[in-house]
Amino acid sequence: MTSTLTPAGEFERAREEYAALKALRLRLDLTRGKPSPEQLDLSDGLLALPGKRRHAADGTDVRNYGGLAGLTELREIFAELLQVPVPQLIAAGNSSLELMHDCLVHALLGVLPGASSRWVDQGTVKFLCPVPGYDRHFALCERFGIEMLPVPMDAGGPDMDAVERLAATDPAVKGIWCVPRYSNPSGVTYAPPTVARLAAMPTAAPDFRIFWDNAYAVHHLTDRPAELADLLAACAASGHPDRALVFGSTSKITAAGSGVAFFGASPANVAWLLGHSAKRSIGPDKVNQLRHALLLRDAEGVRAHMERQRALLRPKFDAVQRCLRDGLGGTGLATWSDPDGGYFVTLEVPDGCAKEVVRRAADAGIALTPAGATHPYGDDPRDAVIRIAPSYPSLPELEQALRGLAVCVRLVGYGHRPP
Ligand code: PLP
Repeated sequence: MTSTLTPAGEFERAREEYAALKALRLRLDLTRGKPSPEQLDLSDGLLALPGKRRHAADGTDVRNYGGLAGLTELREIFAELLQVPVPQLIAAGNSSLELMHDCLVHALLGVLPGASSRWVDQGTVKFLCPVPGYDRHFALCERFGIEMLPVPMDAGGPDMDAVERLAATDPAVKGIWCVPRYSNPSGVTYAPPTVARLAAMPTAAPDFRIFWDNAYAVHHLTDRPAELADLLAACAASGHPDRALVFGSTSKITAAGSGVAFFGASPANVAWLLGHSAKRSIGPDKVNQLRHALLLRDAEGVRAHMERQRALLRPKFDAVQRCLRDGLGGTGLATWSDPDGGYFVTLEVPDGCAKEVVRRAADAGIALTPAGATHPYGDDPRDAVIRIAPSYPSLPELEQALRGLAVCVRLVGYGHRPP
């Protein structure tokens, strides 16, 4: 976007464009990273499965109680994709967030392998939170009174100097949230040296845990999947076998509300979680697990399925780049990520402007994730980060919303500039 106008002229023009935008009375939503109806249609085969099948490969009647660790044939499919050996991988209910919630509760109220007491008996509990990050991780910490320590994200993952310093010096630091591949919302994939340092670093807490939320493990948008080192193996090789808790799910592979979630960890951690889970459940939904195994068949089947997802998502991510470039390129008012996978684009606007942009967009009928949601306690100290979730709206709606968002950034950004 090139312009010969002065900043005052740009502001005037943005005001006019904003008035025109409001007159459209839009109702568009870029808030949550939900799959679109067309993406969900890709898994419609699930609705007819498991057909007349009543039994898993090992003879288990899937309709009955039991089998807390989940069906082996489904765990076999996801073991390679999540980098967890089959015996150390649990297939559970429909939500990995639920598993993360449960692990926090069980660590607070039960004694983790390697711990001498429960977290609730150890005073303050703190977690390292790479920012920008996933608001629901932060909500879990708030819910349980876990203090959050923000750590900046670099191109290869969290700032490891900061992570190592905090983990090594403070025994109250019990964990770190990581979305290691195509991070929510920055799209960053952790570089191999970052993974190695996370696995090897000394921690003051003997019961330190890495919550490795690999929600976007297979969600590539290019032909060149970003390499992600195997954290579980690296932890074991570094003499910290119990450090990694791996989470994943099919939420954004098949049906977001009716998928299957996974937990992978050391044998001791798996026994720990299963011991606690046995009190809250007699077993997972194995009918759903069987239909997933029948639909996806093997790891190659998952990859082929994700190619079909990519065919639907790629044009939307391209549209984000195109619309932001057309609307904000050359203005000096914004930078944005161009991720190779995952579900989000991060837009950075001038400091002090994000909340106002989101407010202006809402007034014009464009719903965005609240500014600040990407940071602990909803507090982005620079008030600069906005998360864009392009998956759900149709392409024309998405383009309209992004053009409108660009108008809001110009309005607020030019208005905010000192004369
Ligand atoms: N983890 C991350 C990083 C996510 O972005 C999401 C959903 O947006 C989830 C977990 C939720 O996963 P699930 O549906 O398995 O609970």
